[in-house]
Amino acid sequence: MTLAQPHGTTHSSWPAQAASITRILVVEDEHDIAGLIKHTLEREPDTQVETVGSGDAALKAVVAQAPHLIILDLNLPVLSGFEVCRILRARPATKHVPIIMLTARATEIDRVSGLDLGADDYVTKPFSLRELAARVRAVLRRPHMMPEDEAPSRVYRGKVLTADFEAVAIEVEGQPVRLTRREFELLQCLVENRNRVLSRDRLLERVWGYDRQIETRSVDVHVGRLRAKLGSAGEQIETVVGLGYKFVEA
Ligand code: CA
Repeated sequence: MTLAQPHGTTHSSWPAQAASITRILVVEDEHDIAGLIKHTLEREPDTQVETVGSGDAALKAVVAQAPHLIILDLNLPVLSGFEVCRILRARPATKHVPIIMLTARATEIDRVSGLDLGADDYVTKPFSLRELAARVRAVLRRPHMMPEDEAPSRVYRGKVLTADFEAVAIEVEGQPVRLTRREFELLQCLVENRNRVLSRDRLLERVWGYDRQIETRSVDVHVGRLRAKLGSAGEQIETVVGLGYKFVEA
């Protein structure tokens, strides 16, 4: 499932589903394999798979929102899967995201080194998609406990805006605000990257997914609606001319 919606579609109101969506990132330069994995895993209800073809793209994709699981091919151009894994494990936001490595031959990976780097499991190519899906389910079922002090805060408390992204509750000056799913995701993306400029393209990618049937202009429309709904907190979303948007701390 992609998050893209055609223009003019009525957005269904948040909360209900999206909070329980499992987001999986597949890092694989072979498009056919990536596509098959995506197709297979998205048969599971509420699973959304994003595919990228390089380690570099993977490191970019996890910035705005860390996925619930990463399937990482070892054999990638430029940055190898090992390097990508090492970098992901070194970053606080992705330190605890489960990683399943894909490897071409059993001998290519030394099980110890893969697991030392922090991979949770690995699958040897050629693999059966059913097996991979089963491994994914198994890894997702494991409790991935984060030490309390390392968990990224899912609650933002500003002077006027309180946003609990876990409970899907937004309040402005103590009054609940009802947002559509897109508006909520937009706000989450902006708040999680507060005080940083996010380009329209970036917001499109994070909020609408990679299916670019949406024009960047519609980001402006949604930001406008979001600002209006947020009332006094709306001013915290600044337009940075020529660049994009920025959520500033109040
Ligand atoms: Ca590959």
